[in-house]
Amino acid sequence: MKVNSKDEIRVLKSIAGSLGLLKCREILSAWAGEKVSRIASNSAQLKMTRQFLDELGLHYYISPNLIFAKRDIGKGGWSNKFDERKNLAPEKGDHLIYISNSLKKLNSAVKADLNDDEGEFGIDLGIPECCISFYLNNQDKAFKKQNDFVPLVAQNTNGLHSFNFWNNYISQYFDYSFLSFFPCSFNCKEASKKAQRSYNLMHSVLSDEANQILHFQKQPILYSEYRGVFLFDGAEQLENRIDLEKCVIHSTLKKNSKTLDFIRSVKTITVHSKEKIQFTLSNGKDKIIKNPDWVMGTFI
Ligand SMILES: [Zn+2]
Repeated sequence: MKVNSKDEIRVLKSIAGSLGLLKCREILSAWAGEKVSRIASNSAQLKMTRQFLDELGLHYYISPNLIFAKRDIGKGGWSNKFDERKNLAPEKGDHLIYISNSLKKLNSAVKADLNDDEGEFGIDLGIPECCISFYLNNQDKAFKKQNDFVPLVAQNTNGLHSFNFWNNYISQYFDYSFLSFFPCSFNCKEASKKAQRSYNLMHSVLSDEANQILHFQKQPILYSEYRGVFLFDGAEQLENRIDLEKCVIHSTLKKNSKTLDFIRSVKTITVHSKEKIQFTLSNGKDKIIKNPDWVMGTFI
């Protein structure tokens, strides 16, 4: 579906500027009828978000109860779990907004989510069936940690390197990704089709922004469950080896963190197996990490 009206393009550009690329991607997909989208909005942004959705003629439902995101350790501002404590400050909460271009689809998605029917809700969200099954089968495992699926997706992926860049879900920690769900594997064909459609859609309205997201999806990313996520912009990838010498390091950690200092001293990273990553430092020394919570993702 192509965006034709100048007014709609203007609104979508304002959404990207004021709510960010990921929310713009979600609203755009709902607008194009690709799926029902669900975004979170704090009270400060709620009025503006409603205005945008009204201008685009979209149907939406705002959950009356606030949800409170629990910030993950080492993942910047990202959150995969809710904070269930009572009496949290309302200004720290978010409303969930369900968005669709069809009232019927909106109602059935809201109903499925309220009934905790995650399989049905996943279909409404446009998630491929293989990825929904993977999610449902691994939910308990992921929840034991920070509810993040990246290590589980890596375990379920054939091969150690050169994954399909459309499925680079890890770049979302840096606010760039065309995938709004955990793929069942970094080479899942169905997930990559969804990401491509999302790219095509955004490219027809915001071509520079769409290409910017794509650029980041093609970069290698080192993921750790509790010690930060690192994106190596411009690093050279040679099969299972990544040369960091000429890259710019983006990190979810604060500037003065110990792990970030360590990563800055690394010259090359070699992936030997899913649980064994070798870091060769500028001083020639090696450090080997054997931990399934660390994933080195390279994407081509
Ligand atoms: Zn899949």
